[in-house]
Amino acid sequence: MELKQLYREIVNEHNLHPVHKKTIENPDLILRGVNPSCGDDITLSLKLDGDIIVDGGYEGSGCAISQASVDMMVDQIVGKKKDEAIKLAGTFMGMIKGEVTDEESIEALDEAAALQDVAHMPARVKCAVLGWKTMQQMLEGGAEVE
Ligand code: ZN
Repeated sequence: MELKQLYREIVNEHNLHPVHKKTIENPDLILRGVNPSCGDDITLSLKLDGDIIVDGGYEGSGCAISQASVDMMVDQIVGKKKDEAIKLAGTFMGMIKGEVTDEESIEALDEAAALQDVAHMPARVKCAVLGWKTMQQMLEGGAEVE
């Protein structure tokens, strides 16, 4: 299978059969992320145990790229430390902006590397980074549940 087609399949699969599109019990952090230029609107919830992200989920709607991207993102960060997740978000956003291109960094993103081609579609950049940006904001700035 051609690589680009494989990537398209990965994006389709996460869009059609999302794994983390659900509410989670007793989340510690909740933050909404909106991309008005496309209409993508997600609410991300994370559960923490100390510094470790132990569960995550999201609700909302939007285009295939935004939804697949947030699903892959949650997949990637559950089980990781907060600072590792923040670092991954930086790598992902760098890749989407075309600033991070070395294979080793991009491999760390696992399936999310499938979105690398978005770097050539400026109109879709905000779609692809929405979930990651929201995650980074909530882990850095805090969005504790009252
Ligand atoms: Zn979008």
